Amino acid sequence: MILHSTGGDSQKVSLPQAIANGIAPDGGLYMPDTFPKLPNALFNNLPDMQLQEIAFVIANTLFGEVVPASELKQIVFDALDFEVPLRRVKDRIYSCELFHGPTLTFKDVGARLMARLLPKLDPAFGIPRDIIVATSGDSGAAVADGFSRAANTRVLVLYPKGELSRQQIAGFAQVRNVVAIEVDGSFDQCQAMAKEVVRANAASPHPRRRLTSANSINLLRQLPGIICYFHAYARVAELHPGKEVVFAVPCGNLGNLSAGLMAKTMGLPAKRFIAANNANDVFVEYLKSGDFAPRDALLTVARAMDVGNPSNLARIIDLYGGDMDKLRAEVEGVSLSDEAITDTMRRLWLEDQMLAEPQTAAAVGALEHKLQSDETGIALASAHPAIFSSTVKAVTGATPQYPPGYSAPPSPPQSRIVKIPPTLSALNRILSTNS
Ligand SMILES: *Cc1c(COP(=O)(O)O)cnc(C)c1O
Repeated sequence: MILHSTGGDSQKVSLPQAIANGIAPDGGLYMPDTFPKLPNALFNNLPDMQLQEIAFVIANTLFGEVVPASELKQIVFDALDFEVPLRRVKDRIYSCELFHGPTLTFKDVGARLMARLLPKLDPAFGIPRDIIVATSGDSGAAVADGFSRAANTRVLVLYPKGELSRQQIAGFAQVRNVVAIEVDGSFDQCQAMAKEVVRANAASPHPRRRLTSANSINLLRQLPGIICYFHAYARVAELHPGKEVVFAVPCGNLGNLSAGLMAKTMGLPAKRFIAANNANDVFVEYLKSGDFAPRDALLTVARAMDVGNPSNLARIIDLYGGDMDKLRAEVEGVSLSDEAITDTMRRLWLEDQMLAEPQTAAAVGALEHKLQSDETGIALASAHPAIFSSTVKAVTGATPQYPPGYSAPPSPPQSRIVKIPPTLSALNRILSTNS
């Protein structure tokens, strides 16, 4: 696979180089020049294949050039050792529950595969490795858990002060090799800081340590999302062969949606996608106007979607080569107010006995608005309701239960948390303590 930067720099890189860099020296995101072709057997057998088998075929197509098939198989079966069930919500609407991994959000899929694949793609052989991730809530725990057993690896988690629940902070701050960094700023500021240190390091690599991003700007975190779409499609095709399938995706940084659009480029037989935004509807506005106008994020009930400068829009623009007509034919945008999201949560609970957290409810609500009568919809259910327990309880009156066997992590002592202003120099000071 040969990759280019969405930033316009003409320098091409290999997949291992793109993964090691995380982001291109010109600040763009890496994209494959062309996507490798999936074997016909995948398309012929899809309804009969299970998650791990589908995942192996896709992983082998994407990474088989670099990682031997036998190792890939082991990695995929180990990383995806949880269920990803399809649930019927109501007539023609399903949810695909991507949240049964160890930290109960869909981010486990990308984080677990990334953590296991990174040492194969970028062996560091005794050199310390820093992984940096900015989180609006859920990436922190998923990345910390994914890398918790990685040798010689430190995970820096940047999060905006006052915006995460105690439970979300506990999900990463207690992990042995994590530095929890509370930034006195917004999520978009955390994301910009994390991006800039990774970009600077790609332009001029540190001689004695590795540094990369574990946000979806890194392809290794983002590409595994492709697997979920093929799996969800397979489960619906198993039940209802030949139906026209539409995916609804709750959007923040557009990592998940861009994976779906990559899946379609690779032949996923989905008819189209519905992108659900909350009041931070920069992507919906982009679909209308063709102009990308990032702005400060508002705080909404669907916190994981509170992104004002979605980084993976660059990938979507690249994928469609700026052809807005083609993009609009394949992706419809819907912006849901807090009221529309909470109404959907209440209705899903009362009418369908489905306890949904705000992000999943946004995806289901988007389908309810936009699904046509000849289409079957799959809402990507991105988090377990227990992760957004206080919101779910306040809105529906019901208390979501954790799955059996799961125990909520204990709150970390304040001494585990490093507090910094939203400046690069403060972040660089922390980075420099690992050389
Ligand atoms: C991260 C997240 C999203 C948004 O996904 P993106 O890939 O950033 O668009 C939606 N829902 C939940 C629960 C999340 O954690």
